[in-house]
Amino acid sequence: MTVLRRTLLTAMLALLVGCAPAPTRTAVPAAPAAAVPAHDNLNATIWMQTAAEYEAIVRGVYTSALAQLDTALADPGWNALPEFERSEGFETLPPAIVVDADETMIDNSPFQARGVRDNVGYSRERWLAWVNERRAAALPGALEFAREVAKRGVTVYFVTNRETPDEAESTVANLRALGFPIAADNANVLLRGDARAPGRDKGERRRWIGARHRVLLMLGDNLGDFLDGASVSVEARQALMAPYAGWWGARWFMLPNPSYGSWESAIQTGCPQGSELDGRACKYQRMRLN
Ligand SMILES: [Mg+2]
Repeated sequence: MTVLRRTLLTAMLALLVGCAPAPTRTAVPAAPAAAVPAHDNLNATIWMQTAAEYEAIVRGVYTSALAQLDTALADPGWNALPEFERSEGFETLPPAIVVDADETMIDNSPFQARGVRDNVGYSRERWLAWVNERRAAALPGALEFAREVAKRGVTVYFVTNRETPDEAESTVANLRALGFPIAADNANVLLRGDARAPGRDKGERRRWIGARHRVLLMLGDNLGDFLDGASVSVEARQALMAPYAGWWGARWFMLPNPSYGSWESAIQTGCPQGSELDGRACKYQRMRLN
């Protein structure tokens, strides 16, 4: 191919790419400052949707996790499950990783944004409507990470507290359409209520996986993605994770989520019994001034 033809071809390709339809994004209509709801989730949501800093952290987590994968694969004694969730003889079991879905692999920030726009909090009804749209996008770098893990012969288990049966079909369809490595029989997706391990917390599902695999890494955005018993007070959560301080960035990888999570209800748990403080007042009172 001559230089001229190659240049022309490159220019045509660039033109074609330029014409490709951009993903549709519906913006919230402009509103005067006074009409913008004083919603607690505005700052967290817009940070996750726009900040280069958020994307940098997310991409960094996947890159670090992938680098650890080779170390973990090469060491038969390596296991990312807490000791009480492992099974005997795990050293010879086939390798797997465990990932959460929401805000770990996929982005539900449009659901949060709609809540801010409408000045409402979480409701099951609104959440199900969003799930059934099947429009959650992959987090930046998530797809490449999951595919690379699968390419190395490691099963990727999606352990999510989206519930079966209501959310199962849409969740699996959404993940599959994005290109995540989902088995033909959906066996590597374990929702809350899965018949194989129906407990509400994720520990039972992790144990189910641990009986069949050596778990190399875990990724999540909530302490409960790693340990059961995380829905307790701020102090109790700190005590719960203290023995695992050295596991972060080695066996366990946390994605940032300032928008929601059990960290938030933990603050409420610490509110004085019988107090009339609501959630916001609890947070306000909990701040440190020095
Ligand atoms: Mg999550």
